[in-house]
Order: sequence, then C-alpha cells, then structure tokens
Amino acid sequence: MGKVVLGVTVGVAVAACAVAALVVGRRVRSRKKWKRVVGVLKELEESCETTVGRLRQVVDAMAVEMHAGLASEGGSKLKMLLTFVDNLPSGSEKGIFYALDLGGTNFRVLRVELGGQRSDLDPDVEQQPIPEQLMTGRSEDLFDFIASSLHRFVEKGNDSVQSSIVKELGFTFSFPVKQTSVSSGVLIKWTKAFAIKDMVGKEVAGALQQALARKGLNMRVAVLVNDTVGTLALGHYHDADTVAAVIIGTGTNACYWERTDAIIKCQGLLTTSGGMVVNMEWGSFWSSHLPRTSYDIDLDAESPNPNDQGFEKMISGMYLGDIVRRVILRMSEESDIFGPVSSRLYVPFALRTTAMAAMHEDDSPELMEVARILQDVLDIPDVPLKARKLVVKICDVVTRRAARLAAAGIVGILKKIGRDGSGGITGGRSRNDIKMRRTAVAVEGSLYTQYTMFREYLHEALHEILGEDIARHVVINVTEDGSGTGAALLAASHSSSGSVDNIQLV
Ligand code: ADP
Ligand code: MG
Repeated sequence: MGKVVLGVTVGVAVAACAVAALVVGRRVRSRKKWKRVVGVLKELEESCETTVGRLRQVVDAMAVEMHAGLASEGGSKLKMLLTFVDNLPSGSEKGIFYALDLGGTNFRVLRVELGGQRSDLDPDVEQQPIPEQLMTGRSEDLFDFIASSLHRFVEKGNDSVQSSIVKELGFTFSFPVKQTSVSSGVLIKWTKAFAIKDMVGKEVAGALQQALARKGLNMRVAVLVNDTVGTLALGHYHDADTVAAVIIGTGTNACYWERTDAIIKCQGLLTTSGGMVVNMEWGSFWSSHLPRTSYDIDLDAESPNPNDQGFEKMISGMYLGDIVRRVILRMSEESDIFGPVSSRLYVPFALRTTAMAAMHEDDSPELMEVARILQDVLDIPDVPLKARKLVVKICDVVTRRAARLAAAGIVGILKKIGRDGSGGITGGRSRNDIKMRRTAVAVEGSLYTQYTMFREYLHEALHEILGEDIARHVVINVTEDGSGTGAALLAASHSSSGSVDNIQLV
C-alpha cells in the first residue's frame, strides 16, 4: 500500500514538473515572439524617423526640385504646371457666378453671389454621383450629362437659362491637364475611376463649352482649374496673405503663387500682376532624404503606378491605412500575438485610413475601438491589450511621419518663395536680418480637417522646422470646399467683364 502511495506521489511530482517546464517553455517562446514583434516595431520606428535635421533636408530637396521643375519641362519629378491664373480673388468681386466641380465619384454644381466685399460665402450647392457607365463611355455623353445638370440647377435658381447676359462659369477638373490658357487645357490622362478614351489629348473646357451650347445655356467657361488652385483662390479671398494651398485628402497636392520671371521654362511669360499660380503636382515629389521603409517599397511595387506619386504614397489618405495593414501582417506572420494569420491581412486596402485613424485616436483605457476594428475589419478576434497597444503605436508612427513630411513640403514652398525666414533658397542673410511677413497657407482635405493627431503632428513639425520666431508669422487656414467655391471666385476675378486676357507670351 505504502509503495503505491509513493508511486502516486512520484507520478504527481513528475507531472507537475512537466507542466511547469511546459509553462516556462511557452513563456520563453512567447517572450521570444514578443521580442520579435517589438523588433519589427523598432525597425519601423527607425526607418520612419523624421528628425528635424532630416526634415530640413526634405525642405531643401523640395525647394531645389521646385527650381528644377520651373527651369525646364521634365526637369524634375515635380511637374510645376502653369495654370495661367494670374490674379487671385480680392473680395471686390461682384455678381453671380457658377462653378462645376468634377474630380471624383461625385460632381457638384455651385452658384455664388458676390457682393463686392469680403463676406462669408454661402453658395448654393447640388451634388450628385456620376453614373458609372459615363466614366468609361463617350466624352459627349459625360459632358451632356454635366450640362443637363447645370441647366436644371440654373433654372431652379430662378436665373433665366437663356438670358442675354452671359453667365461666367468656373470649371474645376481634378485630372492632369496641360493648360494652354486660364480657360483651356488638354487632358494628359485620366486617373481614378475615369477612362474615356476619346477625351485624352482633347481640349477639356472646349468639350464642356460645346455641351453647354447644345443645351442652349448662355454660359462661358471662364476658368479651367485644378482643385488646389480653387483652394488657393478661396484662401486668398478670405486672407490676402495667402500664398499657397495644400490638399491632404485621398491624395495630396499643392499650388502656390510664383513670380513669372522665376518660371524659366516659359521664357517671356508676362502677366500684369507679375505672378502666376503654379500647380506643383507635389504628390510625385521624390528625394533620397525621404524616410522609406520596406512597406513603402512593397506598396509602391504592387500599386498600379509604381515609381510614381512617391510623396503621396507616404502622406495621403488613400495609403496610410494600407501601410499599417502591411506592418500588422508582418507581425502576424512572425509571431502569434494576433492568433493565426487572418486572410483579411492579405487584402490590399482592407484597412482604410479612417479605420486606422479611429484606432489611433481610441482613448478608452481598454482600447475597445481597436479591438472592434481588428475584429470587424481585419477579422482578428481576441487580441490582448498588449498587442492592441502595439497597433496604436504602429498607427502613430505612420501618421506622424506623414504629417511631418507634409509640414516639410509646406516649408519647402515657403523656402522657395523666401518666406521661411532664411532669405530664400540662396540663403546668405541670417535669420535675424529678415523681417518676416505674415504668410498664410490654405489647407483642405479630410486628413487635415478630420484627423486631429495628423493635424497636431503637422503643426508641431512646422514649429520645429521653422523655429518659434518664424513660425508665429505663418498661419494655416482651413478652407471649406475651395475646389468648388474657389473656382466660382476665379470665374469672377477672370470674368470677361472684369479683365481682358492679359497674359502674353513674348
Ligand atoms: P477627396 O480627397 O477625395 O476630395 P477628402 O478630402 O474628404 O476627399 O479626403 C478623403 C480621404 O480622407 C479618405 O480617403 C480618407 O482616407 C481620409 N479620411 C476621411 N476622414 C478621415 C478621418 N476622420 N481620419 C482620417 N482620415 C480620414
Ligand atoms: Mg477634394
């Protein structure tokens, strides 16, 4: 009997040892895996590093590329497109003006009444989706559809459609256009969901003008502009110190006011104002100083436009969520902290930037929003708190880099036009010698307006790069719907009654 008792005791002791060894073994293994995941995070942080020193290198590179893009056609990845917009709304505009805004899935028609002095604008706006079949059909059908909508809109507003007074229309067309004048330009290529073959290489405003005529509308396309230019126009209308506009939404782009004599690729360009708005197309900016990760390289290689829009792919709403998805996928493959690898993690763009921002800004102590999004969007259930914190950190690293690079881009523009307090690109004078003028930048786009962390990081970086003394002279103004309202304002400031075509090429 005693033997039996001893045998049982020994057996229990052996089993206990085995369990203990298993637990310790598992702990060691899980610690190792955790270490690996932390290693992935550390590597991400290092390769996303944006020290002020590095940001200043990006600032310089941006200013240098701007010069190169203005010096010759194809001289830089920055296209630096001429817009022929040679004056910006001042507030003295008067009358009723219309605008059409075409650039994404929706298109809008607007009507603005201007009273001759700066005021809060309250445009009538009507928005509708573009039927899908029109995005890939014939250009005539698309423009007829647009003209019909405008016709209905004008009639509804009790404005006579066929009145003898010609109505001025601003047309925002957010696709790459080679402008030939402020009111004409040729479509270089379609982007986004549009693919109307017979339109490429054709004059855009002309196609609209013909459709207006077919509908019997007595309207003139006074300006054909990019959405950034509309934003600059609206920014300038409200604040005359506005010199540049930046859009940070699905994509990112900027434009600014440049002296015509600095636009070397267009020798002999004369405007009465001595300046012109230049559409930078800054999404395609590239520099070896940009902090690039393996995730960026993969994202670019798998995108429909590899080697293009490099700056945009690090900054804008279309991409940030996908960079985060790629990091989570790597961590999930290297460890089991997210359980078995979810197949959703392999789906490109499965994690949208809005969902990523919601995780980043989850301020609940248990990070319940992070848990919900991981479960609902990425099909990853039961993620422990420790791993949820890691996800927040990934979002933070990716967004911080994006916002800080956008800030460097803005300072690059300021440097190019001598508004960064350094005395311009050639430098020379010390910061103290410069009397810094108040300088405003108009900003639009949901990343900036809806994503608080993004906005705060951008501001912080602006202050770091410029230094407090200079930064307090630089203001960022949010404009609302510049792409539409700004085009109507430009139609006013470039209307046939207000100005003759005063741009000359001599
Ligand atoms: P668009 O650029 O298409 O004209 P927006 O300026 O509204 O339109 O930008 C839309 C983009 O902004 C979306 O692609 C999305 O990624 C991002 N976005 C929208 N809302 C938020 C948000 N709350 N937080 C972060 N990103 C957002
Ligand atoms: Mg937009």
